Amino acid sequence: STRATRKNAWSLITCVATPHKKATGVRTAGSKIWSPDSWRNMPIKQVPEYPDKDQLEATENRLKKALPLVFSGECRRLKEQLARVARGEAFVLHGGDCAESFSEFERYGGDNIKDTFTLLIQMSIVLMYGLRRPVVKIGRMAGQFAKPRSSPYEKAKNAELELPSYRGDMINGPEFNAEARIPDPNRMVQAYHQSTATINLLRSLAGGGFLDLNRIHDINLQFVNETPQGKRFLEYANSISDALAFMKSCGIQADSPNTRTPEFCVSHEALLLPYEESLTRYDEETGKYYATSGHFLWVGDRTRQPDCGHVEFLRGIDNPIGIKCGPSLATDDLLRLLDILDPENEPGRITLIVRVGAGRVAEHLPRFVEAVHKEGRQVVWSCDPMHGNMETSKSGYKTRRFENILAEVKEFYEIHRQLDSYPGGIHLEMTGQNVTECIGGMMELEESQLSQRYESPCDPRLNASQSLELAFLLSELFRK
Ligand code: PEP
Ligand code: MN
Repeated sequence: STRATRKNAWSLITCVATPHKKATGVRTAGSKIWSPDSWRNMPIKQVPEYPDKDQLEATENRLKKALPLVFSGECRRLKEQLARVARGEAFVLHGGDCAESFSEFERYGGDNIKDTFTLLIQMSIVLMYGLRRPVVKIGRMAGQFAKPRSSPYEKAKNAELELPSYRGDMINGPEFNAEARIPDPNRMVQAYHQSTATINLLRSLAGGGFLDLNRIHDINLQFVNETPQGKRFLEYANSISDALAFMKSCGIQADSPNTRTPEFCVSHEALLLPYEESLTRYDEETGKYYATSGHFLWVGDRTRQPDCGHVEFLRGIDNPIGIKCGPSLATDDLLRLLDILDPENEPGRITLIVRVGAGRVAEHLPRFVEAVHKEGRQVVWSCDPMHGNMETSKSGYKTRRFENILAEVKEFYEIHRQLDSYPGGIHLEMTGQNVTECIGGMMELEESQLSQRYESPCDPRLNASQSLELAFLLSELFRK
């Protein structure tokens, strides 16, 4: 299989030199011709207005010649793993920043990436141990730079002045001044370079033996060590070491790649289509197109209209994809989306990421699950307990409560169990830094503490101890 992967990688590299326009459109099972730019003929939401169109086109042409971040064989492998999740044999942990940022990258020199990655691996160990199942790990990383906004304008915190909304570092700047808010195509190139550096770091962390389960006691974040969660993680680590030692005594190979090098994939919302189109490559081996900006892409709750550009783009790429399912998603539209995006009912292709808010799961999840089951469709069901639980604190910070996040996951789990469906995963906004953005958790972070270390340019993230605590609670909940 190494040979196949290598050949595959080369076929992608070969086509880097050939602008994809030369490849003819493909006729997907949905019958209409698709091409990487066919989304341009459709209505579309949430697109920035670039003042300089020539500059935009020049940037797109530059990215069309850029190296791929991921290879088609990796995307197919992730799809196979997600197919296992769809069958109930594995679990998927998906997490990272709401929005990656240029300034955080400069400020931390990669430590934030390393810490979030380490935390995700720790959480996956806790879940693997509790659930007795493999855990597929996907970061919201190396491309998560473009944000959909509910309103085109926003006010500064507690102020009257209104400016065009910040749309993510790939589009415009978070600084509260008019100039920063003008969409600038050069930001796409900067985001691309930051993504290549990020994925390079992630690949070396995953491959470098730093996360060898045989050295599990070294896998910890310093400050989490001091917390009750950190102590609990050490207990898990001891049990895992014992299990590995026992395997060795039995002559079972405990030193395999499975314990040494965790597999890790990257993902982001496919929002900024000029970027996504420019990084789409034709794979000669399979005759399919792949987005090479990340392994897994999803369509957001604001851009998932069946007849619009974002869905059109995702229809033609062969990567595994996600659909955010909020309260306003009509059941018929969900089925239409599945027909368009997954005409062959391919296991692992679709992950439905449900984000309806605590207290509202019973109202929406049953209609989603029943419709999907009735059509005989195989999907991964994932729970995003973040985006339906947003609130604004009295001091003006966007925040979320740990108790609501946990409540939504519990409701999600219970309803799946009642409907004989498999709750296959969790999708979180989180960071390995000890930020103060979400309220609650074992450390009882209070509203008055939000200003201490609020760093997200967009939505509030669980910090390291809140994330690890949630992983412990979920590993107990999902074991039942
Ligand atoms: C997000 O995941 O950051 C997001 C904007 O989600 P949604 O589309 O579900 O609102
Ligand atoms: Mn978000």
